[in-house]
Amino acid sequence: MTVHGLSSPFTPHGDQPLQIAIVGRGFSGLMMAIALLKSVGQPFRLRMFDPRPIVSGGQALATARSTEILNSRARDLSVSTGEPKDFTRWLQANAPFREAVSAAIPGFGQIFVPKSTFSDYVYQRFSEALAQRTDVSVQMSNEGITSIRRNDNGLFTLGLADGSEAIYNTVVLATGYGLKVPLEKPEQDLEATLRDRRSAPRHVVVMGNGLRAVDQVLQLRDGGFAGRITILSRRGFLPQPHTRMPADAVFPSQPMPSQLRNIVRFVRKACAEAEENGWSWQAAMNGLRKRARTLWASLPPSEKRQFNRHLRAIYDSHRNRLPADVHARLERELAGGLTEMKRGTTLKHMPDGLFVRWAGQTTGEHFAADKVIDCRCLSPDLKDPVVADLLSAGLATTDELDLGLAVNPAGELLTQRGRPVGLFAIGPLGLGSLPDIDLVPEIVTQTYAAAALIDARARPQLQAG
Ligand SMILES: Cc1cc2nc3c(=O)[nH]c(=O)nc-3n(C[C@H](O)[C@H](O)[C@H](O)COP(=O)(O)OP(=O)(O)OC[C@H]3O[C@@H](n4cnc5c(N)ncnc54)[C@H](O)[C@@H]3O)c2cc1C
Repeated sequence: MTVHGLSSPFTPHGDQPLQIAIVGRGFSGLMMAIALLKSVGQPFRLRMFDPRPIVSGGQALATARSTEILNSRARDLSVSTGEPKDFTRWLQANAPFREAVSAAIPGFGQIFVPKSTFSDYVYQRFSEALAQRTDVSVQMSNEGITSIRRNDNGLFTLGLADGSEAIYNTVVLATGYGLKVPLEKPEQDLEATLRDRRSAPRHVVVMGNGLRAVDQVLQLRDGGFAGRITILSRRGFLPQPHTRMPADAVFPSQPMPSQLRNIVRFVRKACAEAEENGWSWQAAMNGLRKRARTLWASLPPSEKRQFNRHLRAIYDSHRNRLPADVHARLERELAGGLTEMKRGTTLKHMPDGLFVRWAGQTTGEHFAADKVIDCRCLSPDLKDPVVADLLSAGLATTDELDLGLAVNPAGELLTQRGRPVGLFAIGPLGLGSLPDIDLVPEIVTQTYAAAALIDARARPQLQAG
């Protein structure tokens, strides 16, 4: 068996270089690398693992066609801490982009850009940050990680899919929803659907009601699919539109009530007041997002469960919004009659469709489809061997609702016995602890907080060494 990495025990005051592993090269992993390159003052070695060979912005961006639009405004997508206009400045300096977009749009802050444009920006910032650091070595490895063990000396041994092992003093998990998610699947499905016109399906069912489901429907139409589409969703809430106005965050300054029922009333009133005052409910929702973390932390587990059962779908449809033009296109699509939304729960996949219990019914029935594409909302895979390993070794615990791993805002894993020093989980893995940690602005903030901790912990070694 080959063992890479640290050859002798790392001590807080030893002279071993900082050796960091990032597991996952989606947006969270790449963003973590940028934050480390920009924040950690001393030399370090970084190895980034992912069996998917691409280095990109991840799930939302990897398979993006140049026409697909991100759902966040450009002003919210800076990857540079303390420089909220970094992305819009990058756009302004990008000649092909400026030519393609009307110069009349002041500052580009309010616009929505293609996913591929954001991916180019993230990758460029990563390359620039790396070019600035001749004292850092970065290695990309196309191996998946199969296990993580903490050794007696506090170092972490990573088991690689090829059977070898590697040792690190800091490990950052950025595995998103885990490897079970076939990230390229919707795209492959789409190609397969459209390739053979003779056997092209007449009825496609898209399961889910979030951004992925909407993306898939529009991609099918963009690809020339002219058959029937059913969007099958349990709750039936599709993403709401962004307003064409700026929607800067507004929210009442009074303290929020403590009970869920009263919180809902409070939020409804805040949205109505925002509309009355010439802002928009979207501005109030943006304000709510700024308080969501404290609010979530203050709710008892029973109310968190209640929220997930009854309100999560509504909240998601209002926080993950579609650019107004894309939303208008979705509405036209639904009004056209060839695409419809149906409420129901999938009980079973069948060779020629699904077995579905329609909303309001007690029994299921067969729903015929030539093709079914699963775009349901995801939660982190806690049965993933790496995550399961950490849980059984006591290096991680789940959050109160078992939605993901318990983490603090800097991504440190939390356990009953404290925080295993040097072990982080960034992005969607922490969704049960930190609302909205699956979104770009929150991931950016978390990676810089994690990088600051890693930097601070490594500093005494330098002074003592
Ligand atoms: C269609 C869509 C549109 C979106 N639009 C927006 C938007 O407009 N604005 C916004 O803020 N957010 C948006 N998001 C959400 C946001 O972009 C994602 O939540 C975020 O990109 C998550 O990135 P990630 O790196 O954590 O996860 P992923 O992108 O899922 O990457 C995880 C990576 O980890 C790897 N991995 C998993 N297990 C292992 C292992 N054992 N070993 C090694 N590697 C492993 C996987 O191969 C994968 O490459 C969107 C999401 C989707 C799906």
